[in-house]
Amino acid sequence: MNATHDPQLRSWLGPANAPLCDFPIQNLPFASFRRAGSREAFRGGVALGDAVLDLAAVSALGVLEGLAAQAAAACTQASLNAFMAMGHAASAALREALSAALRAGSAHEARLRTALVAQDAVEYRVAADVGDYTDFYASIHHATAIGRLFRPDNPLLPNFKWLPIGYHGRASSIRVSGFDFPRPVGQVLLAGEKAPQLTPTRRLDYELEVGVFIGRGNALGSSVPLAEAEQHVFGLCLLNDWSARDIQSWEYQPLGPFLGKNFATSVSPWVITLEALAPFRRPWARPPEEPQPLAYLAGAATQLTGAIDIQLEVWLDTARMRARGAPAQRLSHAGFRDAWWTVSQMVTHHTVNGCNLQPGDLLGSGTQSGPLPAQAGSLIELSAGGTQPLTLASGETRTFLEDGDRVTLRGWCEREGCARIGFGEATGTVLPAAKA
Ligand code: MN
Repeated sequence: MNATHDPQLRSWLGPANAPLCDFPIQNLPFASFRRAGSREAFRGGVALGDAVLDLAAVSALGVLEGLAAQAAAACTQASLNAFMAMGHAASAALREALSAALRAGSAHEARLRTALVAQDAVEYRVAADVGDYTDFYASIHHATAIGRLFRPDNPLLPNFKWLPIGYHGRASSIRVSGFDFPRPVGQVLLAGEKAPQLTPTRRLDYELEVGVFIGRGNALGSSVPLAEAEQHVFGLCLLNDWSARDIQSWEYQPLGPFLGKNFATSVSPWVITLEALAPFRRPWARPPEEPQPLAYLAGAATQLTGAIDIQLEVWLDTARMRARGAPAQRLSHAGFRDAWWTVSQMVTHHTVNGCNLQPGDLLGSGTQSGPLPAQAGSLIELSAGGTQPLTLASGETRTFLEDGDRVTLRGWCEREGCARIGFGEATGTVLPAAKA
């Protein structure tokens, strides 16, 4: 940790110092934004309090020097791939310079105030152009609960404890928070039927996940050792892997998820750098009675600080709740520190065969469920496979998502003696199925 993590730091921008603000001066996450409804070019921004610091404007002001100035110049583009590719030294230099310039008493306050835009007056795009998207399956609690529903006699397949299971997802349907999409149509085999039918999904679900943006890539044919894996990670976001469980259950064997998942994936606009997450690292350990990771997935740094303590929540508000002005309802709360595999282990395993990761690639952590049933990160778990409807405060019931339902993911980190930092949110609303 360094001076940018000091919990005593205060910004000259008042709202950044509010106790439950997601974006205090200790966070400084990155997004791509422009003024809402404008034809401006998207460009990089940093969240501070209730504002976005426009990095294109900062770059033009000439208040930064050296590597920090080069990093800010890379953030004048619509996608942050080039900035992410510069690696940790560049993002750290920019963070250090911005932390100094944004803190109370800085001589740059007057000039930087001209580069602020209110967050409620902007729109975002996905922070990077995502070339490839891989979704992992790193929560043993989720894997066991889902496996029990799909394969009651054999819930957790033996490979789970030995390698980070994943599948290659679809990059083209990744959208930033606020994306509303029609209920997908697909092939479904209804219970008791001999032949499938083409129908709008009846089992639409969300998945509460952490997203990982890759920074520096690795050459095809090379692999990333575990000790270097974090050098290839730019930062983390929230990710909702929308899933149509009836389409998924009919199609998933033998080659894995396909149309049940590739119709939409939502991410939060803000990417929290690994550096900002440094105060929230935790030891990672495999219980002694469990298989220990193979040597390429084991290391001292992973044991000391491999876990990241992120609190995660899912909130739901239905069309009826919004019409009545009723607040959204929290469906569950889980923690990323419970993950069976760390972010580094996912990166190292992904590249062990020589597969090349590229700047801006996105990894999903897999649904994060805690050990308790109420900590489940998906509706299929919360409703026991659709057999136990949830009763909402509005009196409505849910097994799976209905048209008009809006799902919001939230995340934050807090620890005694540290400044709390947040991830903002990732929302999406289910629209009626498109007419055939
Ligand atoms: Mn998933």
